[in-house]
Amino acid sequence: MSRPKFVAGNWKMYTTRAGAVDLAAAVAKGLPAGGKTRVAVCPPFPWLTAVADALKGTPVAVGAQNCHFEKEGAFTGETAPGMILDAGCQYVIIGHSERRHGFGETDGLLNKKTKAALAAGLSVIFCVGELLAEREASQTEKVLETQLTHGLADLSAAQLEKVVVAYEPVWAIGTGKVATTEQAQAAHAFIRQKIAGQFGEKAAAGLLIQYGGSVKPDNAAALLHQPDVDGALVGGASLKADTFLAIVAAG
Ligand code: PEP
Repeated sequence: MSRPKFVAGNWKMYTTRAGAVDLAAAVAKGLPAGGKTRVAVCPPFPWLTAVADALKGTPVAVGAQNCHFEKEGAFTGETAPGMILDAGCQYVIIGHSERRHGFGETDGLLNKKTKAALAAGLSVIFCVGELLAEREASQTEKVLETQLTHGLADLSAAQLEKVVVAYEPVWAIGTGKVATTEQAQAAHAFIRQKIAGQFGEKAAAGLLIQYGGSVKPDNAAALLHQPDVDGALVGGASLKADTFLAIVAAG
């Protein structure tokens, strides 16, 4: 099955309001006319509306980097999926390693967030990935299997159509240490096979699986042309329009 490429930028806790709007506008302006690669940017929460407004009428979608699992309530500092949708977003990143390992987010919590985001009408970029120690102990597949089994538990095949999985080996995020094309392809093929077992062959064949972890213009093409790599989730290199656009162009 031929799948579209999808490149998303995770701006993490970077940019000012003006810088975010300028970056978004530069990305939209720099996209080739008629380009087939899907593109999204995920700014910090306070800039979502401003960035979504700046991108109205362009092919660049907007995503948030996290959400709560309730619709509303006394949850100080949290943001409901419906609010993210209302801010003009189409996507939300769930389960980024910085949330899993920096904020103790468990598979069970991420499952609740995923279900809530889908119920609100958002698409989910669901991140999975192993720590260096887990890879060195040959635990990569076991970790991915656990994260997918529990994180995507109770979803239907129809709901999975609105999920993108991002394979992000934790040891490659923000380290400049990119996975080899063989490592990325092997992990992506494993994820697709695992999804086939969980949701069926058709769902697995249509699933977009992004690679994330030190993707840069000089390594993007080789990664993005692996048969099971359908795009990239880009951190550092998404903070400059020219490097992000070069990665998009490699798709
Ligand atoms: C990320 O934040 O998801 C990421 C992959 O970061 P970087 O590209 O900087 O490694």
